[in-house]
Parts: sequence; C-alpha cells; structure tokens
Amino acid sequence: MNLILLGAPGSGKGTQAKFLVRKYSIPQISTGDILREEVKSGTVLGLKAKEYMDKGQLVPDEVVVGMVEERVKKGDCRTGFILDGFPRTVAQADALEGTLQRMKKALSRVILVNVDEDELVKRLTGRRVCEKCGAGYHVIFDPPKQEGVCDKCQGKLYQRDDDKESTIRNRLKVYNNQTTPLIEYYQKKQLLSMVDGMGSIEEIFGRISKAL
Ligand code: AMP
Repeated sequence: MNLILLGAPGSGKGTQAKFLVRKYSIPQISTGDILREEVKSGTVLGLKAKEYMDKGQLVPDEVVVGMVEERVKKGDCRTGFILDGFPRTVAQADALEGTLQRMKKALSRVILVNVDEDELVKRLTGRRVCEKCGAGYHVIFDPPKQEGVCDKCQGKLYQRDDDKESTIRNRLKVYNNQTTPLIEYYQKKQLLSMVDGMGSIEEIFGRISKAL
C-alpha cells in the first residue's frame, strides 16, 4: 500500500499517519520530521533547510526529492509507505512518479484531509512537541497532565519555531498557492479521496480507513 497523505499544516496528517503505520505495518515518511532531524544534527543540509523552515517557506524541491527517493528505496518500504508532507509541489509529484516508475511501483491512493483555515490556526498555535520522544500535545485540545512536561517520558515540551502565528499564516499561504494544485493533479489520475478532517482523531481515522 503506497499512500500519500495530503493536507494543510495542522490538518492532522502526522497523527493519522501514525495510526496507519500500526494498521498496515508500513513506515511513515515525514519530510518535515526528516528535515527537523537534519536541523537538530546540525548537518549542512539541515542548516540550509532551517532558513526556509523558519520563514514557513518550502525547502527547494531538489533537496526534498533526493531525500524521499533515498528513503523509499530502503527495505522497510518494500510492502508500502505513507508519505506525510510530501509531495508539496507539482514538481515534487512529478519527480515522485518518476522514482516510483523506475522502481516498478505505483501509488495506491492519495488521501486529502480537509480542515478549514480558522481551525488550522487554532490547532497549530496550541501545538506542543516533546523534545525527547517527539510526542505531540495541544495546550487546549490535548494538554499534558503537567504543563510543559511529556506524560510519556517526562521530557520538556516546546513549541516548534514555525508554529508561531506569523509563520503559520505564511505556511498556510504557501499551502494554498503551491500545494493545492496537487488536489486536481491526483483527481485527474483518479487517485484522490477527500476526507473530512474535523472531529475526533478516531472519527477521522474511521473515514480514512473507509476510503482505503
Ligand atoms: P511539516 O512538519 O510537514 O509541516 O514541515 C515543516 C517544514 O519543513 C515546512 O514548512 C517546510 O519548510 C519543510 N518541508 C517539509 N516537507 C517539505 C516538502 N515536501 N517540500 C518542501 N519543504 C518541506
């Protein structure tokens, strides 16, 4: 099962990807997570990527395309993968198609998780992440038992630099301009399923499961 999860920042793609990983035993490939790891490790790629990420802009296509190509060739993707946050431009989608063709693979489905913009801003500004284990929280919708501390590993919770309100507005603009053309792109290929991304995590997962 080769899947793409498409949706604006804050639409819950990452959360749903983790449920799909458990259900189908295939890996989640989050370009955002890979880039944040590079930033954390201080690699040359990470330093370059950070400049774009902090402004809410997209990292250049050739950087992410190369990263994904390398990742989908790994053994754990043999039976499938879930792409979360990639592709984000038509050029990336074209490159992905070429990569999969060369590997004699094809996409099974593209799931679009639909959430309205006011809700996205609410979700993103309240989002907190554990710096140790990566667990996600929300100050209102899913608070930890003790403020600022991870329930699972007692790690410190932080707000991603790009989850500040001014950057969020820019990320949503970038999504509307550069990523939404992919909706039509995959519709034309008859691969797209639209799922309502409002409601509880379980409700949304139920809709995705039904679409698959
Ligand atoms: P995310 O965690 O998916 O919201 O990604 C965080 C940031 O990483 C984005 O705002 C971009 O700067 C960068 N990024 C992640 N995925 C991509 C991609 N497919 N293309 C370009 N930039 C990306």
